[in-house]
Amino acid sequence: MRYSGFRIFKEALTGHKGWTPAWRDPDPQPHYDYVIVGGGGHGLATAYYLAKQFRQSRIAVLEKGWIGGGNVGRNTTIIRSNYLLDGNEPFYEFSLKLWEGLEQDFNYNAMVSQRGILNLYHSDAQRDAFIRRGNAMILHGADAELLDRAQIRREYPFLDFDNARFPILGGLAHRRGGTVRHDAVAWGYARGADQRGVDIIQNCAVTGLRIENGRCTGVETARGFIGAGKVGVAVAGNSSRLMAMAGMRLPIESHVLQAFVTEGLKPILPGVITFGAGHFYCSQSDKGGLVFGGDLDGYNSYAQRGNLPIIEDVAAEAMAILPNLGRARLLRSWGGVMDMSMDGSPIIDRTPVEGLYFNGGWCYGGFKATPASGWCFAHLLTTDQPHPTATAYRIDRFARGTMIDEKGVGAQPNRH
Ligand SMILES: Cc1cc2nc3c(=O)[nH]c(=O)nc-3n(C[C@H](O)[C@H](O)[C@H](O)COP(=O)(O)OP(=O)(O)OC[C@H]3O[C@@H](n4cnc5c(N)ncnc54)[C@H](O)[C@@H]3O)c2cc1C
Repeated sequence: MRYSGFRIFKEALTGHKGWTPAWRDPDPQPHYDYVIVGGGGHGLATAYYLAKQFRQSRIAVLEKGWIGGGNVGRNTTIIRSNYLLDGNEPFYEFSLKLWEGLEQDFNYNAMVSQRGILNLYHSDAQRDAFIRRGNAMILHGADAELLDRAQIRREYPFLDFDNARFPILGGLAHRRGGTVRHDAVAWGYARGADQRGVDIIQNCAVTGLRIENGRCTGVETARGFIGAGKVGVAVAGNSSRLMAMAGMRLPIESHVLQAFVTEGLKPILPGVITFGAGHFYCSQSDKGGLVFGGDLDGYNSYAQRGNLPIIEDVAAEAMAILPNLGRARLLRSWGGVMDMSMDGSPIIDRTPVEGLYFNGGWCYGGFKATPASGWCFAHLLTTDQPHPTATAYRIDRFARGTMIDEKGVGAQPNRH
């Protein structure tokens, strides 16, 4: 079924009886050419591009829970292409370009909203670093604009400009950045993949990888063995556990990241802002809630909930930049499990096991990468070659010393 304004109008007049399920609920087949483990944004996008872009068939996505129940439905919805390093910026710019055409591509309203992102700076040294980053972005075809204090005050009058400790001196604006409704991305990719024959199998946890003579021949699941020509793993916070089934120890730690939403307020924030003197960011949803977050919980965990000290830390940073947020009531908070790599950058690569491919290490920035990650992983699965924008995301970079340490904080995952 094709979605359109006409269809909504027609269904409204006929009691909404003509809508069909957005994707099927098939039983698993004994064998597929491609099995994608993980029905999050990255797994679903991979299946979608495998079928649509690379014209592959006999594809299944195996999800242990339900579509959208992982980080793809738990993030704070920010998309952007404002990186400094060569290994990253072309990839994220590719992703942003895919976001710009995504809704037309998969005929689904994902509420892509390019409302802009503003990184605030609070010192001269930080301004210089932002100018350098802005120039790198422009060289890679992205947009970047340095704003002074007066320009920011016009666009964001509710910020605390004269905070004695962290006065706002200016900011780096990235106008094409913004937000996307996160779970609609999962639903849109699922629907698009299903329409192209992909089997999306929910409640189907992968419990083991069958490896024979150095080759992965399929997966053991809660619903029995499923054979596969190639297996692609995209399970985000569960990466280490999944790849341990193949005897691999990844340069990844799992940490919880929390997010928060206030009650609905009148519009006060036109775009996304990030506080430059700590780790706090905030945007306002279409329903009016302020959506914000900050640092990771510092210890390793697989629990999808966080702890109180980080809530206090995030609240303190919020008050330093947006004091009026202290008057708003918090409506909801939640946590997701992040696959934190040692340099803060992702991995899209083959593994030493033939037929087994890995996509992970997205840390807390993988939502914006969803389209490009799916495209590049599908490219790798089909051709056995990395996509040109993802050549730096090899797993052996940690052994070779070619880390992509965008933040320059070294191998300390909780600081990336
Ligand atoms: C609070 C929070 C805020 C964030 N904010 C942003 C942001 O603003 N911008 C941004 O770019 N990124 C953000 N992120 C990060 C982003 O959400 C993740 O990097 C990204 O969603 C991870 O990829 P995914 O969508 O495929 O993950 P997931 O949706 O987690 O998908 C992985 C799936 O694998 C499944 N799975 C796990 N184990 C198995 C198994 N054994 N068998 C079968 N299935 C399995 C899981 O159930 C899950 O559904 C945020 C994350 C959180 C938690």
